[in-house]
Amino acid sequence: MEEVKGRQVTTLYLLPQKGKLPVADRQLIERKIAENVYRLKAPKKNLCTDTTAKVPSSNPGQPGQVHQHDIAIVGGGMVGMALACSLASMLLTKHLSVAIIDSNPALFNGVGVKKEGTPDPRVSTVTPATISFFKDIGAWKYVEDNRHAYFDKMQVWDYTGLGYTRYNARDVNKDVLGCVVENRVLHSSLLSCIQSTDFPKTIYPSKLMTLHQNSSSMGVGSTSSASPSCERGHPVKLDLSDGSSLCAKLVVGADGSKSRVRELAGFKTTGWNYSQSAIICTVEHSVENHCAWQRFLPAGPIALLPVGDNFSNIVWTMNPKEAADRKVMNEGDFLKDVNYALDYGYGPHPRSSTLGNGGIFSWLKPDVTLSANESFEVPPKVVKLASERMAFPLSLMHANNYASKHVVLIGDAAHTVHPLAGQGVNLGFGDASSLSRVIAEGIAVGTDIGEVSLLKKYEAERKLENIAMMAVLDGIQKAYSVDFGPLNILRAAAFHGANYISPLKRSIISYASGEQRLPIFS
Ligand SMILES: Cc1cc2nc3c(=O)[nH]c(=O)nc-3n(C[C@H](O)[C@H](O)[C@H](O)COP(=O)(O)OP(=O)(O)OC[C@H]3O[C@@H](n4cnc5c(N)ncnc54)[C@H](O)[C@@H]3O)c2cc1C
Repeated sequence: MEEVKGRQVTTLYLLPQKGKLPVADRQLIERKIAENVYRLKAPKKNLCTDTTAKVPSSNPGQPGQVHQHDIAIVGGGMVGMALACSLASMLLTKHLSVAIIDSNPALFNGVGVKKEGTPDPRVSTVTPATISFFKDIGAWKYVEDNRHAYFDKMQVWDYTGLGYTRYNARDVNKDVLGCVVENRVLHSSLLSCIQSTDFPKTIYPSKLMTLHQNSSSMGVGSTSSASPSCERGHPVKLDLSDGSSLCAKLVVGADGSKSRVRELAGFKTTGWNYSQSAIICTVEHSVENHCAWQRFLPAGPIALLPVGDNFSNIVWTMNPKEAADRKVMNEGDFLKDVNYALDYGYGPHPRSSTLGNGGIFSWLKPDVTLSANESFEVPPKVVKLASERMAFPLSLMHANNYASKHVVLIGDAAHTVHPLAGQGVNLGFGDASSLSRVIAEGIAVGTDIGEVSLLKKYEAERKLENIAMMAVLDGIQKAYSVDFGPLNILRAAAFHGANYISPLKRSIISYASGEQRLPIFS
């Protein structure tokens, strides 16, 4: 790990990679970092130095006293906690006083994850980019202590039998394509990670009710004006549901898709409902599943994801009426429907021979990847429902802006996507990583961390990436909502291209892994 010794910065791991910044800018930043690191190391009057992990909900401060923090993270879900861990892991940000506001009892009582027993139905497929991020911030070792399931193969196909694609980590010289982890494991790992540091954090077991900005920095849609109890330089006052208040230089909305921060700060959104719901549950097989399977059906995709031992997770998209019925139908009928949807009886199996040798797409003579020669496989049969079934309505939402003066949005507060490619929280982790880096860069050059020009750098970096992913996912969702002959052939051609054209296949894997931008955006 790079370190800062005295006033001398030995390695600039916070800076963008070489080649991305002009040399003059880089040298300027390097000089500023050295100066600012020195200043940061000196005791700072307005920096809250307590390392409290918990504040009694009734009275977080002395009567009449309002705590002053550098950053207030509203929402201690997976993305909010990832931001806190990332800040705690960097030399330039680990001294910041951070408040985490969330009434979720898991933040103070722990999540109580057991390695044995049935996996929780709420899981995330995390990409190699997310795994690297977790390793960098020191959280992945806690995930590895708990249940997780790496997978190195994936098969995607549809109900027409016209095409399929198999992906293999070996196609891109990797060991894994991703890892399926219960959300509670990701969350508790981030919590363990932050608890293992002496990062000056304060957890407020409460909910944000209102935001106020002092008169000199109005303009984020605040609900009230001046706030006499906030010290100079901490212009945003947050009032919580338990009657307490705190002040911050920067407020981060990590409070999910119904974000109160987004609403109070007046960020507008664009989006639509898909008129689809996803049923999720844990199921059991008689053999262990090592592959991630996804089949596109007329009403939406069904995914069967390995979660360890003989368990898999189902994410099944369908219309809301079907979801409501399938959520309560008896187990036998539900399992019959699941197996039918996964192939047992529903539609023809695609055959590699119709695609590769003499089939309608045989004019594509490619430089094939290893997995292109793997034949279609039928997924393992589901024999038992192992958890409750949960249904979630699906929508796309994107905040038109992520940043304004002293306020910024990350994770589902900024964007929600269709779960068909398991990208939602991965985008959120990308936001957390980017924002923490931008904050560190701001500190390095002596910029106020609430300064809008600084926060807009984060917005610019993430917006492009998030919108590109949203467009891809929305396009796939729309392409599969129509059952129409010529379109079916086009989709089959897409499967064929994705399976047999090596550069395309490698690009798809790298893009889905979070390691490469779409060619048009890079
Ligand atoms: C069916 C389904 C399957 C999915 N599968 C995947 C997958 O495989 N891979 C993937 O990457 N993503 C997946 N996602 C998306 C993923 O679950 C979300 O992107 C992720 O949970 C968002 O995390 P977050 O921390 O931004 O928000 P949230 O998880 O919503 O957390 C927000 C936090 O803010 C707190 N909060 C809310 N309001 C306030 C307030 N006023 N004051 C204080 N705190 C507040 C809440 O208590 C909560 O803890 C899936 C989503 C669905 C619906």
